Amino acid sequence: MLEEVLLRKTISQLNETFKSGRTRTLAWRKAQLQAILRLIEENEDTIFKSLLQDLGKHPVESYRDEIGVVSKAAKYALTHLKTWMVPKKGHIPLVFFPAKGEIIPEPFGKVLIFGSWNFPISLTLDPLIGAISAGNTVVLKPSEQSPACSSFLAETIPLYLDHSAVKVIEGGSDVADQLLQQKWDKIFFTGSARVGRIVMSAAAKNLTPVTLELGGKCPIILDSLSKFDTEVAVKRIVGGKWGPCGGQTCIAIDYVLVEHKYATALIEDLKKTIRKFYGEDMKNDIAKIVNKYHFERLKKLIQHPTVASSIVYGGSIDEINMSIEPTILLNPPLDAEIMTDEIFGPFLPIITLDNIHDSIEFVSSRPKPLAIYAFTKNEALKKSILTETSSGSVTFNDILVQFLCDGLPFGGVGQSGFGRYHGKFAFDTFSHEKAVLHRSFLLELEPRYPPWNDFKLEFIRLAYCLDYIGLALLMLGLKRRFKSTSHLN
Ligand code: NAD
Repeated sequence: MLEEVLLRKTISQLNETFKSGRTRTLAWRKAQLQAILRLIEENEDTIFKSLLQDLGKHPVESYRDEIGVVSKAAKYALTHLKTWMVPKKGHIPLVFFPAKGEIIPEPFGKVLIFGSWNFPISLTLDPLIGAISAGNTVVLKPSEQSPACSSFLAETIPLYLDHSAVKVIEGGSDVADQLLQQKWDKIFFTGSARVGRIVMSAAAKNLTPVTLELGGKCPIILDSLSKFDTEVAVKRIVGGKWGPCGGQTCIAIDYVLVEHKYATALIEDLKKTIRKFYGEDMKNDIAKIVNKYHFERLKKLIQHPTVASSIVYGGSIDEINMSIEPTILLNPPLDAEIMTDEIFGPFLPIITLDNIHDSIEFVSSRPKPLAIYAFTKNEALKKSILTETSSGSVTFNDILVQFLCDGLPFGGVGQSGFGRYHGKFAFDTFSHEKAVLHRSFLLELEPRYPPWNDFKLEFIRLAYCLDYIGLALLMLGLKRRFKSTSHLN
């Protein structure tokens, strides 16, 4: 638990800093983004060690999924920030002429960000980049389930960033609960739907806007492919499923949908590639299960008798090291927990269908996933996926890489969450778009005021159509002008 006095002091310091207007300047925002870059560059070894300690991540994986992600996002924001901050023009109806409309992005104020344990550096610093870019003050709550990374952030952030504007508060659900009792201007949460509901109801008390980055069951729809394309697809599936954090990833593949006739060959290809990537003893280059709770949860998923009998590869459990082998299951019961709950671990169920087009009904009849993957060159199938299913994102012919595209929004829909971030979308998520209208004292339209009469009714009727009438007249004028000049030619 946090000391109430300390919490109050933290909050009032953030309020004071925001009130000072310092965080709104381009110079301050840029200095903080540069500080984040320095923080990750100068502490690369400590980050590697912390990620190894918390999750058993290899440095290559840590660089690819954490340090590289943060560095890229900070550089992208530094490059584009000035443009993002420029107010946009807003169209104003002709009837208000002379007038000017503007949309000015303004920071919300004091923001609370919950980080996640599976990518404890990137999924904490990435939203921070968005919040700072937009000019907010921030409290970061890293996940207590990745303690080495949490203390690394708590120790280093005050050394690099403006300590009166960005605070790190460590702790578990009790501290999270205390933080949620405070009044925030925006809450950004990454985690489970269960806690997402708690966050949302706490936010509702103060009508605080929230972004919920949740999870779900992300399917792959695997169509028939050429030999070459299948080899690429299998590598991407194995790398994407067991690569980042050993399957403990919100956008990891949860299950594969494939036609019956391809299942046997697919399983053989997957087995060969798993051995090639992770070695015969599966001890190489694969992150560990985060803690005892998740280890026991995952064991329960595959030890259920009807599920255990569907294992076609792997399944061995190392109680001492709390590790579970990459495991493939063929057609586990659809009502078993492994097919109803998000797996968030090293299991890959394969569900076979008569026809790959049946995958559309399979996916659309379940909660909306954070991501849908499809390996296909069939344009009709692609169109059906895009128009007949709903998900946070759709990626054709690859896995997870959508997360690295700053030009695409990242976020869920339905049960996988709401709101979005990355690149400009993160700036927008942490900004309020303020509508500003500048009017003149000229051209006073008297019919807008009572006493009412028929003329005023007709005038107002006309005023609402003025833009269209103006446009029509403009088009007519252009047409006439065009006709007369073409006649001269
Ligand atoms: P969680 O929801 O249990 O915990 C997340 C945060 O909530 C932690 O900081 C924790 O301290 C806090 N918390 C826990 N219990 C609380 C309570 N009772 N009251 C207030 N706060 C509380 O996280 P988890 O289940 O370990 O994370 C896994 C989930 O997160 C999966 O569903 C996964 O898909 C999702 N996830 C989503 C993304 C994304 O970007 N969309 C990324 C990573 C993980």
